Amino acid sequence: DLPTQAGIIHLLSERTINRIAAGEVVERPASAVKELVENSVDAGATRIDVVMRDGGKALIQVVDDGRGMDADELSLAVERHATSKLKDDDLVNIASLGFRGEALASIGAVARLTVTSKARGSDEAWAVRVEGGHKNTVEPAALTTGTRIEVRDLFYSTPARLKFMKTARTEYAQAGDVIKRLAMAHPDVAFTLSDGDRTTFRAPQVTSLTGDVRLERLGAILGKEFRENALEIDAEREELRLTGFAGLPTYSRGNAQHQYLFVNGRPVKDKLLNGAVRGAYQDYLARDRHPILALFLDVPSSFVDVNVHPAKAEVRFKDAGLVRGLIVSALRHALAAAGHRASTTVAG
Ligand code: ADP
Ligand code: MG
Repeated sequence: DLPTQAGIIHLLSERTINRIAAGEVVERPASAVKELVENSVDAGATRIDVVMRDGGKALIQVVDDGRGMDADELSLAVERHATSKLKDDDLVNIASLGFRGEALASIGAVARLTVTSKARGSDEAWAVRVEGGHKNTVEPAALTTGTRIEVRDLFYSTPARLKFMKTARTEYAQAGDVIKRLAMAHPDVAFTLSDGDRTTFRAPQVTSLTGDVRLERLGAILGKEFRENALEIDAEREELRLTGFAGLPTYSRGNAQHQYLFVNGRPVKDKLLNGAVRGAYQDYLARDRHPILALFLDVPSSFVDVNVHPAKAEVRFKDAGLVRGLIVSALRHALAAAGHRASTTVAG
């Protein structure tokens, strides 16, 4: 007689499911900051203020002036798989930064989350609290505009994850990097980051009256020198368009950390970029020198899959060779036009 397996397999509880998902979506404080700031951008905010105390372990607060939520939306927003962004379940034509409907539920599963919001055009504000996966009833609150998210005691309900947190300083720096990248892609939004005592990052809103909006914003983040040493990039190949700014070879760095790539407005990390940049600059720079650049690739949504990773930091291109070719040729073209010849610099 075979032993019966009945009763061994069971469905996990919603709370456990959320905590497992949270492990993927909210790996560290910077991932929570990323999700929350992306939500504010998606909500059409023109200013987003972030406060992180103790590297985000004690508090992450994100305040925006976006369209906000009414009581019903607020209650749904913190549920898993609840999103306002995926119209007709269409995973191809994704126009927003979010679409998975997991961030708020995940954060609520591993922290004490309070979401306070006022829907644009309404004069009532509401708040909902979620603690360790338990949702409380939506209550009236006071708020003049937009949405305020407070995340306290991150990972208090997942001690294993809590143990792996780096120093407050490291977590804060990581979050700063996340905000910086989002700020590069959204010059029309004002951003600040504060540690509770001091504002350490500030990107004022850039309006179209101030000349080249994108260069203005990049200059505010990467420095005035970048602005003065950057070549404009604008190239097309098939349905792909590459724009942005690339630093002159004479204005280079000892590491490749200042190479930023955005795909359809989404900051992505892709090894393809570093490789293409190395290829384009190889005649102009020694092997241990790297340019600073920010490139914005716009492609039809069917050309790219952003749903590769829960944190959405990676994307997959239908034709990576085409992307690489476009980047290399656009950079080479700009460098050649700027009259920098290989013979004038130390080649590696
Ligand atoms: P997603 O962003 O993938 O939709 P989230 O869990 O991050 O999932 O958010 C769920 C929903 O809550 C969003 O689709 C949006 O409707 C709403 N929401 C979240 N943050 C904000 C915000 N700052 N302002 C307005 N609405 C928000
Ligand atoms: Mg989101």
